Amino acid sequence: MKLNIPHYTLAIKPYVPGKPLAELEREYGISDSIKLASNENPLGPSPQAVAAMGAYAQRMHRYPDEPGYALLQGIAARHQVAPEQVIIGNGSDEVLGLLGLALLQPGDEVIVPTPSFLMYTIVAQTAGAATVEVPLNDMAIDLDGVLSSVNAKTRIIFICNPNNPTGQVVPREAFESFLAALPDHVVVVVDEAYAEFVRDRHTFQGMDYLAADVPVVTLRTFSKAFGLAGLRVGYGVMPTALADILNRVRMPFNVNAMAQAAATAALDDDAFLEKTITLVHQGLDWFYAQLNRRRIRYVPSQSNFFLIDVARDAKIVFEQLLHEGVIVRAMSGYGFPQCIRINIGLPEENRRFLSALDKVLGNI
Ligand SMILES: *Cc1c(COP(=O)(O)O)cnc(C)c1O
Repeated sequence: MKLNIPHYTLAIKPYVPGKPLAELEREYGISDSIKLASNENPLGPSPQAVAAMGAYAQRMHRYPDEPGYALLQGIAARHQVAPEQVIIGNGSDEVLGLLGLALLQPGDEVIVPTPSFLMYTIVAQTAGAATVEVPLNDMAIDLDGVLSSVNAKTRIIFICNPNNPTGQVVPREAFESFLAALPDHVVVVVDEAYAEFVRDRHTFQGMDYLAADVPVVTLRTFSKAFGLAGLRVGYGVMPTALADILNRVRMPFNVNAMAQAAATAALDDDAFLEKTITLVHQGLDWFYAQLNRRRIRYVPSQSNFFLIDVARDAKIVFEQLLHEGVIVRAMSGYGFPQCIRINIGLPEENRRFLSALDKVLGNI
């Protein structure tokens, strides 16, 4: 078979998903394992979303609303933007993909403060664009470094705020000076997948800059704070002119009807959102106190996850924790060979993780 595949497509490394819980349990002979590896909501899905899905099941013979009227209205109302400025996607990952499709071609460059979310580079590679990596400076995004990497070929700058996996945020003034210094041939994509968890009021929200000279796209998701990762719903808020372009490359019915119904209901589930945020903040504070007491280093976070410095090979600690039935993420592939990333779980999950860590690190 002769496939004429572009060289840049062949260069993409396949995404390696985390193994399903059931498979890990079989492999390691464990049961009742807990997963703190994917920044999911430990409380489960929003109950209002679950109720909406039950009611909606009877209507699955119908095509979804296109382009998703109720959900677009709900998102627009929540953020006080126009529905025409919103693009919904099959996860915010799809909106990232649409941005790549609409904005990038071979020879272009994107800038990614590194380490960050791996999807940005995959999106660039898919379009044949090159990724320019700008290392973090003491865990924070180096906006001056990003600025000095901008050239005539730069098309997209990805700013993950808070950044995954470090949990740090960019101060508002720093972002504003950065934005003012950018040439207008670039698009800034601000990924706010974890915005709901931010406690530091000195950061910025991408949506406040919809009228800036440089287009600013803000990405949000229902996968984390709203507990709907399995349904795949996310969205981008952007200037209408750019949304018009994305709508041309977007497949119709890209967000399925069940997902639209659930996400629309979740937007109104204030009680669930509040409960989630409180659980995460209390969990973070509990962990900080516990780790301080043990003199284990960590990176304080504005998100629902944080990095722990295990002061030894994180891949080995990851394996040892697996044997204890606790699934975390080793950060070796992100340039932190001695760090693991965990998300905040239920209080009993947090305690279970900590006793497993104590055992593995020899603290008990
Ligand atoms: C989890 C996550 C997303 C969300 O992706 P979805 O496709 O909406 O599930 C986006 N960006 C970052 C940085 C994330 O960690």
